[in-house]
Amino acid sequence: MTTDHGYPAVRMYIAGEWCQGATGRTAPIVNPATGETIGEVPLATTADLDRALDAAAEGFWTWRGTPIARRTEILHTAAGLLTERAAEVGRIMTLEQGKPLAEATGEARRVADTLRWHADDARRAYGRIIPSAPGTVLSVRREPVGPVAAFVPWNFPAGGPMRKISSALSAGCSIVLKASEETPATAMELVRCFADAGVPAGVLNLVFGEPAEVSAHLIASPVIRLVAFTGSVPVGKLLAAEAGKVMKPSLMELGGHAPVIVCADADPVTAARRAAQAKFVNAGQVCTSPSRFLVHESLAEEFTAEFVKAAEALVVGDGMAEGTTMGPLANERRLKSLERLTADAVARGAKVLTGGERLDRPGYFFAPTVLTDVPGDADLLHEEPFGPIAPIVPFTDLDEALRTANALPYGLAAYGFTDSAATAEKLATELEAGILSINHCGGSVHEAPSGGVKDSGYGREGGPEALDAYLVTKRVSHLLV
Ligand code: NAD
Repeated sequence: MTTDHGYPAVRMYIAGEWCQGATGRTAPIVNPATGETIGEVPLATTADLDRALDAAAEGFWTWRGTPIARRTEILHTAAGLLTERAAEVGRIMTLEQGKPLAEATGEARRVADTLRWHADDARRAYGRIIPSAPGTVLSVRREPVGPVAAFVPWNFPAGGPMRKISSALSAGCSIVLKASEETPATAMELVRCFADAGVPAGVLNLVFGEPAEVSAHLIASPVIRLVAFTGSVPVGKLLAAEAGKVMKPSLMELGGHAPVIVCADADPVTAARRAAQAKFVNAGQVCTSPSRFLVHESLAEEFTAEFVKAAEALVVGDGMAEGTTMGPLANERRLKSLERLTADAVARGAKVLTGGERLDRPGYFFAPTVLTDVPGDADLLHEEPFGPIAPIVPFTDLDEALRTANALPYGLAAYGFTDSAATAEKLATELEAGILSINHCGGSVHEAPSGGVKDSGYGREGGPEALDAYLVTKRVSHLLV
């Protein structure tokens, strides 16, 4: 069933059934490109959450007892269905989140591959046999941790949910996923692929609700054995504390404020083009988005000119329209936040070279923005902007740039541009970040881990490390009688 806007009727998925909340309570879903309400998301009650918890408790034993070859086959079938449905999933994603259709469809295709990668990797989650006393077998086994409670945001409506679902299900865990109430239909369509592929009832449950109510209830439940969250640092700290109180491990993939250091020996034009491209992807709403541009003073003018050119070449519009290269912000909160950060920087003396304001049209559009002369105490240089705004700050000495880069409590992504292998190695050693890219600003890949240090969180998603949080290690010592 779809609404007049070509948007599906959103349902939760609990114990193998598509359902609305017990009380019929809903919240509106808004197309950020038009500001129109395109649907309603059902909000779970405590009774709905309890059904999801019971289902996940039972589903866990069903799933971990399913032979791994069969589990892998089901997950590959789900990935195949998602690949087939990618165009439709992308269309729904653009309607609810705003990103250009090609990016949305690409995301749907890419996450099908994320699932394949993790499903295959879990087949090699080996334990080990340790030499021991004669007559004794000493082994180390890796077992699924148990039912997982996962919470994901709206910026990657397919990528966020899939990172959690693919790791949990590949490891043999069941999961209760609370996806974003702002982008619920993409998550629903992902879950539909798993349901259609034959994932047994209760293994994968999808709920929506009042975020704080849902997380408090799920985290406190004795059923849940791991808390996995992607989102802002303040909410991450809150959920990690709640998990800590009931002695549950957590996986925290939080925000960042990624520095880009452009060294004196780099090519400023190439650096500006590559950095600008990464800056404006998803309208800057990416946790690893480059967001503080520290450029050697000798290159600042050339770098800035090229960066402004790239910003002005973007075609900002409805993600559904052909040729759009940057969509709207996903919600009004982001717009307000960018207006506040820009006003604060300008009040302190920053210059707006391009953009700097919301666009005069319906929806949540903010112009691609480049600022210079931003003083060190501007909020923009301390607070994660999560939007299409680029402060360019010249430096004279690399050590000073490194101190600036490392001065914030964040430590997610960092970028460097240099022609010198020795300087690249210095950046790799001294930048405090979980993800470092030199001479490019590429995104994450399934094969390698992503995650932060300091306030940006702990645990890793992607690569073989992704399974670590979802598996527990058991030592078994067997005296042969
Ligand atoms: P927010 O902090 O209100 O929410 C972030 C996410 O957490 C949302 O999906 C929200 O539904 C969820 N959330 C909020 N309170 C929760 C709770 N008590 N329990 C469970 N989930 C909860 O911020 P926002 O306005 O949605 O986004 C703004 C900021 O969030 C950005 O500036 C950015 O720092 C951060 N963010 C980070 C990522 C990321 O990928 N790390 C993604 C989206 C947003």
